[in-house]
Amino acid sequence: MKQVLILSGKGGTGKTTVAGTFARLAAPCVAADCDVDAADLHIILSPEAAPRNDYFGGKKADIDPEKCTSCGRCLEVCRFDAVTAGPFKINQTACEGCGVCVWNCRAGAITSKEVLSGTWAVSPCRFGTFAGARLEPAEENSGKLVALLKGEAVKAAESSGAKYLILDGSPGIGCPVLAALGGVDAVVLVAEPTVSGRHDFMRLAELLKQQKLKGFLLVNKWDLNEEETAALEAAAANFGFGLLGRMPFDTGVIKTLLARKTLGEDGAAPAADAVEKAWRTLEKALEN
Ligand code: SF4
Ligand code: SF4
Repeated sequence: MKQVLILSGKGGTGKTTVAGTFARLAAPCVAADCDVDAADLHIILSPEAAPRNDYFGGKKADIDPEKCTSCGRCLEVCRFDAVTAGPFKINQTACEGCGVCVWNCRAGAITSKEVLSGTWAVSPCRFGTFAGARLEPAEENSGKLVALLKGEAVKAAESSGAKYLILDGSPGIGCPVLAALGGVDAVVLVAEPTVSGRHDFMRLAELLKQQKLKGFLLVNKWDLNEEETAALEAAAANFGFGLLGRMPFDTGVIKTLLARKTLGEDGAAPAADAVEKAWRTLEKALEN
């Protein structure tokens, strides 16, 4: 099974559109939405409803008012301003679960409890199997949830004998991206031809170089700035990346997404053709 991760420097560059379309072209495959902070791949893959599994990503402190002697020590030691006085309470949103207040409370009034941080599920979709997760609002530790989800997606791919695992990653270079990178065979960077798009691309390309991972570039809306497209391709070539081609600006893309479909499902369109060509090029490169 080959793992293909699709990344971009920021949201809104067409990463999920490409991931969903790759899933269709790689069917039957396993597709996983590793962008757990803003999951939306399910919208175009429409997985079947399935029971959701709880994800406990961290701990939060809690004060037992019966035991609290109001000494104020927890307020002094909390570096996250999560303790409020009179009566002493923990702000659950601000609490980072570091446990410092627990160790410092001589009255033994503070306990640390696991909290529900999100949910995940694996279920059939029209291109094979879909693995998706959702983080609760204001919850962190998305890297840990991505690692869990990816592990489940790999298990699903192995048990179904799928040839491909298509992973829609988070934008940027944070923890969830690092968690998704482990074990991938190819990383497709979707970039737009702007100065900031090239800057974002360079940051991701450096990350892939550090991790010794094979990168590929797919330029979205290339015809909006031909000069920047050429600059992106030259930068990618310098990193030794494969070039998957250029997607043109295409008003049909929005129509397709609003119909909750992947590109090419509702007939040929310039962008759909470009993504299909990109997939065939990638497939060939992965065979070698
Ligand atoms: S350290 Fe313990 S006893 Fe002191 S104020 Fe905080 S909760 Fe109450
Ligand atoms: S667990 Fe850490 S962050 Fe949370 S209230 Fe205690 S000291 Fe503050």
